Amino acid sequence: MRDAEFFRRWMAAAAAAVEREAERLTELDSPIGDADHGSNLLRGFTAVVRELEAERPEQPGAVLQLAGRTLISTVGGASGPLYGTLLRRTGKELGTAAEVSDGELRAALDAGVGAVARLGGAAPGDKTMLDALLPGIGALGASYRAAGEAAEKGARATVPMQARKGRASYLGERSIGHQDPGATSSALLLGALADVADAWDAMDAMDTADGEGGA
Ligand code: ADP
Ligand code: MG
Repeated sequence: MRDAEFFRRWMAAAAAAVEREAERLTELDSPIGDADHGSNLLRGFTAVVRELEAERPEQPGAVLQLAGRTLISTVGGASGPLYGTLLRRTGKELGTAAEVSDGELRAALDAGVGAVARLGGAAPGDKTMLDALLPGIGALGASYRAAGEAAEKGARATVPMQARKGRASYLGERSIGHQDPGATSSALLLGALADVADAWDAMDAMDTADGEGGA
């Protein structure tokens, strides 16, 4: 089971990944956008970490809803409302439970990605964050690591696509040949989830082994 601490760690790991990769995200947003994706997300996730530390929500759903609200209010640009909606909707699905199962999280993320698709009106192959989120969430049934890797693969697969949504679509065919920044940051988000889940499960295994040792 995953409690609020797990979700706070996920958001902190996402913020760290965004900080590490901010320059690259902005570089990807230069040829097919307005060179602000890294700075947008850095501002947003820095605020998310700050808000979570200030309010310390006690339920998984509350953590993600606060994170989503914070992204919406701090990130100008398309990605703020889209990522904000992803986290808010996912958090709403998780409800007020103190702990959630991996199956519940998977179903909630599925609903969250559905909300992103409805808000942005993008379909698979339109060269957006959905091209990483959809395969990523699709692989969650196998493992968190598989989801991170599928998202990463999905992000790379945006290179030959022509953008049909968002700012990059204004470029028409000239958007071909560049990796989508939003798909790239989505892979970071799911990669951060995999890292946190791996560390969490390793700790669990150690606790269990200690218990069995009868210490
Ligand atoms: P902006 O385009 O407003 O400058 P960002 O640079 O922060 O915002 O984010 C751009 C990313 O947002 C794109 O790379 C793409 O993945 C994602 N995006 C833009 N429009 C949509 C949409 N309609 N649906 C899904 N994702 C979108
Ligand atoms: Mg941009």
